[in-house]
Amino acid sequence: MERYPKLIVDIEKLKENINTAIRECGAVGIQVAGVIKGFNGINEFLPAYIESDLQELASSRLEQLHRAKDLGWNRGLTLIRVPMLTEIDEVVEIADMSLNSEVSVLQSLNEASLIKKSKLEELNSLEQWKPHRVILMADLGDLREGFWDKDELVRVAELVEKEMPGLHLTGVGTNLGCYGALVPTAEKTEELVHVAEAVEERIGRRLEIISGGASTSYTRITDGDMPERVNHLRLGENILHARDNEIFHGHSTKPMNQNVFTLMAEVLEVKLKPSYPQGEINVDAFGHKPYYEDRGMRTRALLGVGRVDLGDFNDVFPKMPGIEIMGGSSDHMILDVQDAIDGGQSIKPGDILEFDVNYGSLVFLTGSENVKFEVKKS
Ligand SMILES: *Cc1c(COP(=O)(O)O)cnc(C)c1O
Repeated sequence: MERYPKLIVDIEKLKENINTAIRECGAVGIQVAGVIKGFNGINEFLPAYIESDLQELASSRLEQLHRAKDLGWNRGLTLIRVPMLTEIDEVVEIADMSLNSEVSVLQSLNEASLIKKSKLEELNSLEQWKPHRVILMADLGDLREGFWDKDELVRVAELVEKEMPGLHLTGVGTNLGCYGALVPTAEKTEELVHVAEAVEERIGRRLEIISGGASTSYTRITDGDMPERVNHLRLGENILHARDNEIFHGHSTKPMNQNVFTLMAEVLEVKLKPSYPQGEINVDAFGHKPYYEDRGMRTRALLGVGRVDLGDFNDVFPKMPGIEIMGGSSDHMILDVQDAIDGGQSIKPGDILEFDVNYGSLVFLTGSENVKFEVKKS
């Protein structure tokens, strides 16, 4: 028996997107870190990344880095969230590199790395030890992680370079377009290069990595105006969906495939009902006061998928024309299917409807134990 809700991944299309990212970035001297947090690094989808030519996988969650390693990944692993002080030993164990912004965290990483070194020394396997690589994050205005005071960043860089032998200062990085919704313009990104140059002047050598951002920074590649010295991007969304740069920033993301994932959900009920709730209206299942438009009597379909599975109903998109998502609750989605039915479609209990998904829903769908996964090899 097929079980629903189900998420289908077209693994060949995903592989194509990974290859496209590697090729387009490589053409302008940029290495891609494949970010796997957008699908919770689940085992079903990881092989597309592991079998690619990527040299680095990255996640904000250590659990996901472990999974990649368990599946046989033996190249670079980067923690792209500032490490928690309570997870430092594990960071040094699993990740070769991490993004950082706090001296106390760097000190702790340094100690853990040196302890690891002496343990390996005792086992006569010192060749297995490498300093933990760190990228210092500069906050250029997005106001999430990173040094706001760039002089402080330069001072800390010098400290890592001269006084933390367990660490290797690999470079600097920034994150744009996350909290502060900042546009990664060429000028903004150039600011990061200036930060890198200030660090280089202080420590007297060139940095290996200038990490220019995440998927939103891919627009600098398509526009061909990425500052010369930026040589690293951390790409999640633009490989998985390649939708945001087009929808939110008006940039073509061709030749990326935008239909790697499809959500399939089962119809439970189809009935003609009023579109406006009948009776005294207070709050919905989540304590919110919603707005209801009165469109008279309409045919509605109820689906066996809900907010616990996909997060927000605005983050899935019905493929069948004439269907509108009205909302739902934890375990139900409610559709207005009147226009589809007027257009000649038949929708009945047991039917399976298909949806496109974006970043906001994929991260929930891949984290829900109710959702089944199917790998399609096109
Ligand atoms: C999530 C994240 C990324 C990847 O973001 P996408 O928009 O999915 O490309 C890159 N860098 C950092 C620091 C992140 O937290």
